[in-house]
Amino acid sequence: MYSWKDFQKHWYLVAATAAILLATLVLVLMQVRSVRRTQTQAQALLEANLDLHLQSLVAEARRDLIEHADHVAHSIYQRLVRERDLPGLQRAVTRAARRFPEVRDFYVVFFAPRQERETWRALRFVPAPDDANAPQFNGAPLGHFVEAADFSAPLLTAWLSVAERATLATAATFAPVSLAQPEPRQIFFHPVYEGGRVAQQQQLAPVGLIALTVEAATYPTPDYWRALLARHAERAAGQGLPEQPMYQVSLAEGAAARSLAAIGTLKTPLRQRGFLAADGLFPTLRFQVAPHEARNPTNKNAGLSILLGLCAAALALVGVGMTWRAVQRERRVAQLKSDFLASISHELKTPLTAIRAFGDLLHSGRVRNAERIHEYGGLIKTESDRLTALINNILELSRLERGVRKYRLEDGTLCAAVAETVEVFRHSVEAQGFTIAVTLPTPPLKASFDANAIRQALLNLLSNAVRYAGTARRIEVTVEREQMDAVIIVRDFGIGIAASEQRRIFTPFYRAPQATERGLGIGLAIVREIIQAHGGEISVESEPGAGATFRLRLPLPMMAEEAVSPALTARPVSESN
Ligand code: ADP
Repeated sequence: MYSWKDFQKHWYLVAATAAILLATLVLVLMQVRSVRRTQTQAQALLEANLDLHLQSLVAEARRDLIEHADHVAHSIYQRLVRERDLPGLQRAVTRAARRFPEVRDFYVVFFAPRQERETWRALRFVPAPDDANAPQFNGAPLGHFVEAADFSAPLLTAWLSVAERATLATAATFAPVSLAQPEPRQIFFHPVYEGGRVAQQQQLAPVGLIALTVEAATYPTPDYWRALLARHAERAAGQGLPEQPMYQVSLAEGAAARSLAAIGTLKTPLRQRGFLAADGLFPTLRFQVAPHEARNPTNKNAGLSILLGLCAAALALVGVGMTWRAVQRERRVAQLKSDFLASISHELKTPLTAIRAFGDLLHSGRVRNAERIHEYGGLIKTESDRLTALINNILELSRLERGVRKYRLEDGTLCAAVAETVEVFRHSVEAQGFTIAVTLPTPPLKASFDANAIRQALLNLLSNAVRYAGTARRIEVTVEREQMDAVIIVRDFGIGIAASEQRRIFTPFYRAPQATERGLGIGLAIVREIIQAHGGEISVESEPGAGATFRLRLPLPMMAEEAVSPALTARPVSESN
């Protein structure tokens, strides 16, 4: 665990982490704010632009609709609109009905000035069927007027609802509910004055009307809405807008809407408007404009820059994490080294004390008993062997750490080297009751190796097998061939190694907490270095209490005859105790 002292020692790392995090956070926040601001501005601009489009679109449509109605009404010559001139009116409307098929019904209405309610008389024009025998006008069958029985009252209501009846040449109104017709209609009124336009200019009250009923889908022409939208879109494109807006004209029908024309596919209408109520024009008509994409393009950039910010933060954190780990590792190694220095003096002193004590005894000549002399001599030898092994390991480690260890690889018989090493080792442990079983393959494996290094590696493994043997006294050494590798296996039945320790025991100076014997924690690190220098690898299998099996895997050189022969199976050739 970390103490406050450790924390103080690495304060710069903590400060750097905090600074990086803070800076990244501030950057991301600034980015988010600036992106939001840009987005809001862009959105506002876009909407204002769309609003302008919509306004000009609606204004243009209004002008066209009224102008056309005016044009139709004027084609029925105004001076003729008198009750006594009905035949002339019949001819004029017959001509107009042919010219303007988009007009659904033509009406003429007569009344006394300012007395519409009392004197209202509405006539509906009935076109003549195509019949050659019927009276003709300009080559067309002549239509006639009938009393507009059903529509007279609604027409009067509609006319009375027009605000400025006296001054407007063409008025428009719409009264769907009061009309008898199932579908709503647009009506255009054209006031008629006794004495024509002069009377109108003198602000006299009208004495009659020409009324036209039309439908949004076919008026002024069936293609009108599409043409209007196309014209408008073209104009918008010419204005160099960043994106082509999308347009639609539709009729609201209850909650639903029927599209009359559209340019592009309108998914989410941003802006919608109809005619002003005062215009009295198609109140269910809707003009809609939306940008090309519902998604604002700045969103993409915003997302990207925020993502980049977050990536930078993540990278900074990873960097700090890695530094933190490196510092921790360094700290662990420092700890291991200091433990090593503490135990090395102890490790050197113990055998030296024994050697010195038994040497003194022998030197003093006080021990005469030949058996004792032999025993003390043996102890001195064992302790010196341990000391030698220890010093060899320390020297080896220092060479390895400085990178000056050179290996002399020579072709030789691996089995012989293993057998020799085991034989030498056997003598020193026999007295403690250990048995070492050796299994070698036939034919013996030939390899290229540094005999001294391999011997040292094997001795380290054997000495560990003895030191961590617990109460077991059996050790097995096997050499076998696995495909193109030679494998030296050292197996003991001692205290074993916990799974969590198995990877770490190869780290220099590391000692498992379960290690019962004295030691410096460098033996296995040296074995691993030696084996890796030979192009091989070391592995361990173990279960606590059931012993450990170390495997040294060394690559074999490719022999001409071996390349074709199948893998040779290992067979025991010698077994000795
Ligand atoms: P040392 O034995 O001097 O501590 P080593 O590098 O040889 O150092 O071994 C590292 C650790 O691995 C030992 O401390 C011990 O915990 C564990 N170890 C090594 N060999 C064995 C074994 N045969 N059985 C059980 N534990 C072992």
